Amino acid sequence: SLDAEEEFLKELNEPQREGVINTEGPTMIIAGAGSGKTRVLTYRIAYLIKYKHVDPFSIMALTFTNKAAREMRNRIEKVVDNDARNIWMGTFHSVFARLLRSEAHHIGYPSNFTIYDADDSKSLIKSIVKEQGLDDKVYKANAVFSRISGAKNNLVSWKDYINNPLYQADDESQMRPHIGKLYQLYVQRCFKADAMDFDDLLFNTNLLFKEHPDVLNKYQQRFQYVLVDEFQDTNISQYLITKRLASVRQNIAVVGDDAQSIYAFRGANIQNILNFEKDYPDLRIIKLEQNYRSTQNIVNAANSVIVKNKAQLHKNVWTSNQEGRLIELIKAVSDNEEGKLVASTIFEQKMNHQYHNSDFAVLYRTNSQSRAMEEALRRMNIKYKVVGGLSFYQRKEIKDLLGYLRFAVNQNDEQALRRIINLPKRGIGDSSVDKIIVAADEQGVSLWEILENIHHFVGGRAGEAIKNFVTMIKSFRITMEKSDAYDTAQMVAKNSGLLKELYEDKTVEGLNRYENVQELLNAIKEFVDNPETNDKTLGAFLQEVSLLTDADDKNKELDDAVTLMTIHMAKGLEFKNVFVVGMEEDLFPSQMMLSSRADLEEERRLFYVAITRAEQHLFLSYALNRYRYGRLKTCEPSRFLSDIDTTYLQVSKSIGSHEPLPGVQAQHFGKRSLIAGFPEQKPQAPRHFVKQTAHQPSSDFKPSDTSNLIVGNRVEHPKFGFGKVIRMDVDGANRKAIIDFEQFGEKTLLLSFAKLRIV
Ligand code: ATP
Ligand code: MG
Repeated sequence: SLDAEEEFLKELNEPQREGVINTEGPTMIIAGAGSGKTRVLTYRIAYLIKYKHVDPFSIMALTFTNKAAREMRNRIEKVVDNDARNIWMGTFHSVFARLLRSEAHHIGYPSNFTIYDADDSKSLIKSIVKEQGLDDKVYKANAVFSRISGAKNNLVSWKDYINNPLYQADDESQMRPHIGKLYQLYVQRCFKADAMDFDDLLFNTNLLFKEHPDVLNKYQQRFQYVLVDEFQDTNISQYLITKRLASVRQNIAVVGDDAQSIYAFRGANIQNILNFEKDYPDLRIIKLEQNYRSTQNIVNAANSVIVKNKAQLHKNVWTSNQEGRLIELIKAVSDNEEGKLVASTIFEQKMNHQYHNSDFAVLYRTNSQSRAMEEALRRMNIKYKVVGGLSFYQRKEIKDLLGYLRFAVNQNDEQALRRIINLPKRGIGDSSVDKIIVAADEQGVSLWEILENIHHFVGGRAGEAIKNFVTMIKSFRITMEKSDAYDTAQMVAKNSGLLKELYEDKTVEGLNRYENVQELLNAIKEFVDNPETNDKTLGAFLQEVSLLTDADDKNKELDDAVTLMTIHMAKGLEFKNVFVVGMEEDLFPSQMMLSSRADLEEERRLFYVAITRAEQHLFLSYALNRYRYGRLKTCEPSRFLSDIDTTYLQVSKSIGSHEPLPGVQAQHFGKRSLIAGFPEQKPQAPRHFVKQTAHQPSSDFKPSDTSNLIVGNRVEHPKFGFGKVIRMDVDGANRKAIIDFEQFGEKTLLLSFAKLRIV
């Protein structure tokens, strides 16, 4: 009814409403952080379905993470119920992987193609470099891969690459003249393995649309509405896909913020925003200036930072929210102390303001910074989750089982074959695998055909073992054809010997790995049982899994936990309290981003993204000393700190040192101690956490030889008990280990004296 519609639209301000109800024609919203861009997209979709009676199947919405898509879908569901599940919504990669699954045969791929992750790609490149007899120190897999990836994202095929003298000259000047050849071989090998890497999903969609106008036309008719969030971070390949899709109906809505463009290093192109106006002369441009997320202090501080960038579209972001508290600057003596200060501040904030753990986020520039934070939070018994980093699906045991599942679905998957053929050990060495691949190449047949006729190529025991392997894979296929993903996976885990091997490993790590594999099986069960899953096959499950981004980690979702993540991961999110840690020169801005103004401005935009995640309270911290690359380094406060207008800033007291930050006025210094209520010597922690009893060494305690002691080793000390080596220090002839003991904290031990047992 009209009333309901009015009520619905009341939740928007005037320009937002305009962005929602003008559903026809091209629309672009470029606006500052927290101004409701994502909200407009969400409402626009709900409005299309509910009030314009548009079929949800004809809406495509592209988001930055699958998690963002899920959240959007949940919100839309509140308005339109089950209809929301039929919207094509997700990341570019997942949406177009889905499309390719039905159309790949047009470009020579089967629908059960494998998706190679970055590890698969790099290991394939390594093999090719080796086969070509090239030096793998010159042709590093990382470097070659990023060159190929860059080319694909600019829609340069291997043929174009080889025929373009500019690329050739560039590679020659880098002393890597053979990259074009490697690109060609890499593409051919992927094709032969029925595999696409991440970039291929976009590259091949473009190829499909270009070479098969009939297919393109089908989707142009089907997707009458195309919407894109975080438009500032799309690359050319993504841009062209949306352009092609929307070219008939022209119902395309994009939202973004040039000040938050943080993926230029991955080929995202801010030029897309400017081109958009040229591509759509009838473009409706909407500006949103009111920020609903953050306090005035936070909004103003963010504005004072971003104006320091030369390259930006001018925006006037303001808020009618409360002034809020000043931004607090925390100074620590070391990275470990920084962790402690952050943890104790969270503890204090929770006590004083009734916050939940989930109201806090700790953001950092690089993943490695999470360690000190994790330790401190664990000591204070505060639950946390790390988003990104080594995610669940990147763990070895998980990849091993997935390797089996992948190979059961696609017997040409070279990378999966390499991973599993001798796992658990069955006496099939690398050389046998190489023989198989060379044979497939020479004979011009698939890997599987070679495997099925292995007696021609590999004899002896290895040949026999391969024969058994083939029989086993065949039995998996038979199961797969009549069972769903869960039953198949269970059977594979059992019959491959993987579960048994982990089960028999009685170490703590072994047990963990066993549980992880069980957890993967649980995830598959959940997938199969989910009423929204239409296709319950193993192939469908694998596709979903290979498209999870780091932000979509399937780590058991902790409900009430502090979130730890990189700033890149935090895009689009919001938290009541945000800590941005490691505000130091060479760390943030990153050392690698200091060489040009453009790079430095990208770092500053990243800082802007970090600040604007905070709703109520923002903390910035830095350490005076930090271990980096195994050495203790003295650090200087980040130049970005002095970008912030000091009116919005307050310097907090810190343990160890009391001088205010140079260049930053400490006008509120001492007003309120960050560790108020925390006597300095005794960090407040739940009682049971501080154990004071001395350690009783194990009855069989015998010191080990510590000459091979390395970071990460777990050790026992007769007095300090168990601990983990966190750093090694060599000072002249003295080797020292810095060990974090479970009961006694950090100790520096001289190895020539210490009696340690490596456990
Ligand atoms: P970012 O640039 O960080 O992605 P954004 O522009 O997408 O931010 P949203 O996340 O859509 O901003 O909105 C920020 C917050 O403000 C959200 O919590 C949203 O619900 C709220 N908000 C936006 N518009 C309104 C409004 N008109 N009334 C009330 N709350 C609003
Ligand atoms: Mg947003």
